[in-house]
Amino acid sequence: MSMKKDICFTSANFDRKALKRSDDNWIAEQLTSDKTLFLLFWRNKFLITDDLNIRFLDKTTAEQFCRNTIHWKYLGEVDITEEDNNAPISVFGAEIIEATEITEIANWQSLRAIGLQITPHDANLLVYTQGLLNWHSINRFCSHCGSAVEHKQAGHALICSNENCAKEVFPRTDPAVIVLVHHLDACLLGRAASWPENMFSCLAGFVETGEDLKAAVRREIFEESGLIVSEIEYRGSQPWPFPQSLMLGFHAQATNKEMTFHDGELQEARWFTRQQLLAAVSDGSLKLSSSLSISYHLVEDWFNQNSDITLTEHLNR
Ligand SMILES: [Zn+2]
Repeated sequence: MSMKKDICFTSANFDRKALKRSDDNWIAEQLTSDKTLFLLFWRNKFLITDDLNIRFLDKTTAEQFCRNTIHWKYLGEVDITEEDNNAPISVFGAEIIEATEITEIANWQSLRAIGLQITPHDANLLVYTQGLLNWHSINRFCSHCGSAVEHKQAGHALICSNENCAKEVFPRTDPAVIVLVHHLDACLLGRAASWPENMFSCLAGFVETGEDLKAAVRREIFEESGLIVSEIEYRGSQPWPFPQSLMLGFHAQATNKEMTFHDGELQEARWFTRQQLLAAVSDGSLKLSSSLSISYHLVEDWFNQNSDITLTEHLNR
């Protein structure tokens, strides 16, 4: 019986400084300190060094990547190195709207592409940054009156510029349940028609208004597969900023195996025993989702429970 692994994107080594970031004077000091570091986001990608670390910049250099004024968002204090005597460093992030020549030739990589190659700490910082910047990019106007919005709390809130409205909003996250359904010695994986060929994953869907998490699990599984589930067990959560989800992972037991695809969301769903799963992966008829994803963690939990060799060890053979 193996230990459950840590879920990717859950090993932050930064302090968001949530109590300090609303102090405009303190933020102004951090912005002008020559110790502070800056990180840029462009077309859903980050600046990365050749040896796969985040490429932090000083403010002057960072601003050469952008033609227009940069609106920096305060991210927090980050432990940049593991050496002793290195105090945490303030880091700001921003999205480039109008690129310069320097931007075009730099090394940009998406979080999905490099998430497993950079350190877990760096990956977690980029997940946070991407989530916050995504929220800004889709919230440029007040949802009540349509006026422009202005930054507050160093980018952790927006306020409507219309004095009569002055509505304030905060970064939001959309909860989604993701479930590995078990029946006897098999687990259920499904695929949507739009996915890459042979890609199968756990069943998932957004939590609806006024719904608790277990109700969302039962509803989503029934809509997608017609199965009734019991013994719903929470496994853990994962921020997934594509664009702004929080994935809530569950294991659940199905009371039977017969499926009906009520909502048409799935093109196909199949039960796999451990042997069938390994055979399907090796003959190419099954592609599991990235081992970054909580879907993979759920499958691996199930697989490892009854195997001397972990799923990842099998797949790396
Ligand atoms: Zn407004």
